[in-house]
Amino acid sequence: MRYISTRGAWRDAPLPFSAILLEGLAPDGGLAIPESYPRFTAGEIEALRGLAYPRLAHAVLARFITDIPAADLGAIIDRTYTAATFGSADITPVTPLEPGMHLLHASNGPTLAFKDIALQLLGNLFEYVLARDGSRLNILGATSGDTGSSAEYAMRGKRGIRVFMLSPYGRMSPFQQAQMFSLADDNIHNIAIEGVFDDCQDIVKAVSADAEFKHRWHIGTVNSINWARIAAQVVYYFRGYFAVTGKARDRVDFAVPSGNFGNILAGHVAKSLGLPIRRLILATNENDVLDEFFRTGRYRPRKTAETHATSSPSMDISKASNFERYILDIVGRDPVAVRDLWMKMEHDGGFDLAASPYWAMVQASGFVSGRSTHADRIRTIRDVHGRTGVTLDPHTADGVKVAREFLDPEVPLVCVETALPAKFAATIREALGHDPERPAVYADLESRPQRSTVLPPDVARVKDYIVAHAESAS
Ligand SMILES: *Cc1c(COP(=O)(O)O)cnc(C)c1O
Repeated sequence: MRYISTRGAWRDAPLPFSAILLEGLAPDGGLAIPESYPRFTAGEIEALRGLAYPRLAHAVLARFITDIPAADLGAIIDRTYTAATFGSADITPVTPLEPGMHLLHASNGPTLAFKDIALQLLGNLFEYVLARDGSRLNILGATSGDTGSSAEYAMRGKRGIRVFMLSPYGRMSPFQQAQMFSLADDNIHNIAIEGVFDDCQDIVKAVSADAEFKHRWHIGTVNSINWARIAAQVVYYFRGYFAVTGKARDRVDFAVPSGNFGNILAGHVAKSLGLPIRRLILATNENDVLDEFFRTGRYRPRKTAETHATSSPSMDISKASNFERYILDIVGRDPVAVRDLWMKMEHDGGFDLAASPYWAMVQASGFVSGRSTHADRIRTIRDVHGRTGVTLDPHTADGVKVAREFLDPEVPLVCVETALPAKFAATIREALGHDPERPAVYADLESRPQRSTVLPPDVARVKDYIVAHAESAS
């Protein structure tokens, strides 16, 4: 298995998995993607039914990661997907929610969000590849909450890796801030920037744009376009499928609360591998750039000023970073067509596929969509709690709200739960009048000692800090 860029780079000499693992964007601005998707036959899929999560993960990931010896990959996976880290040996248990609908619990990892499924694996893959190649990595990131904590919990204590995470000073929720700032590991550096999230992101961009600095200090990122994160997420679509079907070729629908299009892209990849997924039901919040596309064919990324701050904040996106990978499939894997569309987007602010032959491909891909607002979210949390006693987090509530619009008695539906309600106490209080339950490990979270360094929004000061604390040549 080798990788190319969505815009055509590396086509003459496709790269192995290890070479794209630590890469951000390809040199042409595209994203790494397998040259072609491996296919599982119906028989091969059935042979995976009943496997324990780590064995299933190995069977799927071995198709994408062919340059790490099978025994080493197996050991990395076994270390990652444990009951100790994810709360149960099932890793992503599936439970019935209401007639025809199930919840896939993907958020029982260390930071109570589904991002742990991918990032915990990424931490172990990074450590392995860096040790093998005698290399090292300084991860620089910006976070407004969720991604930063998942990345820190995945990289804490890892050899050869330091994390420099910028966050807006005093602007995270007390729970999110405590989750990150209470980590005592030497390789984790929390930098609170006196500014807003965009200031943090601008600093990361400025540092990354300094090629010499980036190279000299081995600066990398762990953002949502990392291909290994997508591959890791493919596994739980298999898991969800087996949980609600009984035999070969039975079909399933998935509903996915979406932001940067990473989670649901993994569903699209699972379908491309041969998993009998009928519909992929994409749910957005008020930031509905993706719902607009799947309803109308028009893709129109928003400006930062047009991006709403909502009560499902991890879905507050202006453009969907992973969308380009899906579009490559829609245009028949023609990277020139992708490049043209993205160039058009630069000039015109968007593109419209409705009148093009590609629209039929979009419709054939199984995607449908819907949108959820704050009022929908509150109503859904209240309604589901009243009927079932289950407390949904605000993002999963968006998924359930939209999933209900597509329920079909003929085909079971699995909604991916993307976070636990404990992280979003204010919204749960608004919906239910009481605080959400909190997992025991986080009972005393806000009273633990916290560590961070406050810096002004100044690129030079951040660079100085990195140089003083970086993982350096050994
Ligand atoms: C990141 C996140 C999402 C959005 O997932 P994408 O892969 O970006 O589409 C949804 N819900 C929660 C809780 C998240 O943390």
